[in-house]
Amino acid sequence: MKVLVTDEVAKEAIEKLEEKHEVVFKELRGEALAKEIGGYDALMVRSGTKVTANIINEAKNLKVIGRAGIGVDNIDIEEASRHGIYVVNSPGGSTHSVAELTIGHMLSLARHIPYADRSMREKKWEKKKLKGIELQGKNLGIIGFGRIGKEVWKIAKAFGMKCMAYDPWLSPEKIKEYGAIPSSIEDILKNADFITIHTPLTEETRQMISHPQFELMKRSAYIINCARGGIIDEDALYEALKNGMIAGAALDVYENEPYTGRLTELDNIVFTPHLGASTKEGQIRAGIICAEQIMKVLDGEEPDYWVNKHLMK
Ligand code: NAD
Repeated sequence: MKVLVTDEVAKEAIEKLEEKHEVVFKELRGEALAKEIGGYDALMVRSGTKVTANIINEAKNLKVIGRAGIGVDNIDIEEASRHGIYVVNSPGGSTHSVAELTIGHMLSLARHIPYADRSMREKKWEKKKLKGIELQGKNLGIIGFGRIGKEVWKIAKAFGMKCMAYDPWLSPEKIKEYGAIPSSIEDILKNADFITIHTPLTEETRQMISHPQFELMKRSAYIINCARGGIIDEDALYEALKNGMIAGAALDVYENEPYTGRLTELDNIVFTPHLGASTKEGQIRAGIICAEQIMKVLDGEEPDYWVNKHLMK
């Protein structure tokens, strides 16, 4: 069968698909994609291709849309479901990558690494100003104890940290099994030295950390968001950082990306431009998992990571 790939994916993913299918790579967008999609049985994308209703309406032979990654907000899931088109993704492929970036942000904050680097480039030697803290013995508060949250804890344990975890979908017993302390969100806000968020963006998590939550946090606390923009209220974060209500923050994700807002004026914040999943290994893993899901559908099997199952059954 014919598979169209419209975003750059790992070559290992293409090779996997080519074991059984004909693969065409073309970075088509909008009308150009709508014009050609009719000739394909499967479409593989990352976040760059917007798979709109218009494109899906032209996809007369399409059986499956695969997202090499997790977020499927670039795909019109409802329209795909109406046409009986499977939407699959590859959760888990980037777990280690995101967890390692989170730890990188924690170390950057604890030891002021990005600031120190900037300062030295200005020929300064701010040794006294840049005294840091150790991660050892600190309370790590994890909000959202799923794949990435648990992986962060696995690594943080090696630094000698303690872990408080909040996840309404996990029983306290399950959280204890991982050696973490089941906690309410308030407990975490009041007691954690580092708070890291690993929930999806939902109605409940949107602006979950805003003015009242910053009020509860320790003045020495750091907060990290490598999950989704919009979970932390960026205006409230600006106020909290500006007024010394917390010690610092690190962000990988933003309400609007690319981010160019006023948080960049502050020194006590570290940024990365949505790099969580951007590693060689993460992309290979996500690409191969996605290719396998596409191949399952083309073989008439049920995929493991079927995003629109609830809309098609
Ligand atoms: P996951 O589904 O394994 O874990 C998410 C956890 O959040 C689940 O355990 C769930 O019970 C919990 N949760 C849901 N609502 C909650 C709430 N209101 N309060 C507290 N916990 C809640 O997902 P994952 O693979 O660990 O990924 C976590 C998030 O990381 C994803 O949703 C995605 O938004 C983000 N992510 C970011 C990048 C990046 O590039 N920065 C890459 C991959 C994933």
